[in-house]
Amino acid sequence: MTDVLVLNFTYEALNITSFQRAVKLIFLGKAEVLHGRESMLCSPTFEMRLPSVIRMLYYIRRPMQKVALTKKNILLRDDYTCQYCNLKGERLMTVDHVIPRSKGGPSTWENLVCACMRCNNRKNNRTPEHCNMHLKRKPKAPKYIPWIRVKRNTLPDEWYKFLFLYNVSIEDRIES
Ligand SMILES: [Zn+2]
Repeated sequence: MTDVLVLNFTYEALNITSFQRAVKLIFLGKAEVLHGRESMLCSPTFEMRLPSVIRMLYYIRRPMQKVALTKKNILLRDDYTCQYCNLKGERLMTVDHVIPRSKGGPSTWENLVCACMRCNNRKNNRTPEHCNMHLKRKPKAPKYIPWIRVKRNTLPDEWYKFLFLYNVSIEDRIES
């Protein structure tokens, strides 16, 4: 892999880029290399280690990003855990309208939760009170979206120490 982790001036992870783009940023004087790889990058005029982690030499402002309301994001917010019975699993999880659509329940962060098939079927078109099924926690809109999603088993060691920050979600959920 030749991807490069880009850090902000403040060392927070910003994104992942190609080595070509990283080298360009370095040559333009916009970034510095924090960690290089074993392999060398050679051209008739220069020689350098392939960068693995670079840091911007000025601060990049990130606009607040809204999290898109999608089925996948509801499941991620609830960590693939049924909000009625606490069953956890990536397969067979559904998105349930707490107040059913047929009773005027909207499709919003506050009215959508992750539910296992069994609970979803059992609840059917009823409100939680009506079927005596209670939510484990009150559903809310997430405050931020992680900017970077990486799969744990693809990470170079030197990236780890920079990836603890809040804007990165390390996913080990690899869909097969
Ligand atoms: Zn359940």
